[in-house]
Amino acid sequence: MERIASLEYLNKQLSKSPHRHKVIISDSNTTEYCLTHLIYSVEELSNAQIIEIEAGEGSKNLETYASVIEALLEQGADRNTFIIALGGGVVCDLANFVASTYKRGVSCILIPTTTLAMVDAAIGGKCGLDIGNVKNQIGTFNKAETICIDTAFLETLEERHIISGVAEMLKTALVSDSELAEEIMSLSPFEVGTRQDLIKRCIRLKQSIVRKDRFDKGERQILNFGHTIGHAIESIALEENREIYHGEAVANGMFYALELSNQLCQSEKEKIQNYLKNNYPIEDISDKLPQLINYMNADKKNISDNYNFVLLDSVGKARYGQLKTREQVIKELGTKN
Ligand code: NAD
Repeated sequence: MERIASLEYLNKQLSKSPHRHKVIISDSNTTEYCLTHLIYSVEELSNAQIIEIEAGEGSKNLETYASVIEALLEQGADRNTFIIALGGGVVCDLANFVASTYKRGVSCILIPTTTLAMVDAAIGGKCGLDIGNVKNQIGTFNKAETICIDTAFLETLEERHIISGVAEMLKTALVSDSELAEEIMSLSPFEVGTRQDLIKRCIRLKQSIVRKDRFDKGERQILNFGHTIGHAIESIALEENREIYHGEAVANGMFYALELSNQLCQSEKEKIQNYLKNNYPIEDISDKLPQLINYMNADKKNISDNYNFVLLDSVGKARYGQLKTREQVIKELGTKN
């Protein structure tokens, strides 16, 4: 499993390899808000090169990937280079993919600066790029050498992004830890998304699931709860040039996956759906079902003509590989919002 560490630890780690090339990949916001704190805390990075990408999901694509690779070549980055991601899930996904492919693989260090990236995107070794509006169509499994968690970065993060990240915290808890799920739903999402103890609990929980199934062949798939529909909702928003944050799309996806969760008792379903409705912009999808189904067709998890869902049996207990036909999806989702 990847090592979760502090920035102080990273400084010590890098001081053992003073001559290795170091490249920080940041985005326009993390250069502005996070770089000073990073360099101040990790002196060994004071001579690092910086490659900055534009902030936002629109950078998680092949064009930005190619531009980063070209910048690395121009700098003469060799196989001993450390790629250091400083940013949210977009920077972590892109930088990790760069690290796993540049010169057939160089060292990767992830420094997540959003709640969502701390609890999810940076953990577990998956990285991906979007193709057009379709999410994560290219990617690798690549274990970062070190992941540094420092919640001080969250001080400059917009509240809406913090709450977006809490959707992934709730997801991990809903599929595997009922006590944590209840605790999360009893607190304000802003408190949850900034509390170091809860962030660390979610990281440990995700790591314990990933450890059993690193390559996502079985049990790890429970972490995709909310993502089959969530990714399709995110793609529709991208197509319509409408902003929806990843966690908000996942909150929507969980809301509708609960609708398909026929084993879950009605009162538990309503409790979670009410929490989601109160804290996230849950969209009415009844008039978007054909578009939604179209994007769900690109889902990597589909099996022949069936859509593959993670559904909840009870709070803390999920089941992956739950197949539904197109007709079932339309019937069960057609009336709910
Ligand atoms: P993001 O990376 O776009 O970051 C959100 C915004 O916050 C950006 O504008 C960014 O510039 C800004 N920002 C980041 N840190 C900041 C800080 N400390 N202060 C001020 N501004 C800051 O979005 P995200 O929600 O972090 O990540 C979403 C992405 O993560 C999606 O592409 C999703 O697919 C991916 N993801 C990947 C995995 C995985 O396992 N690889 C898991 C979950 C999500």
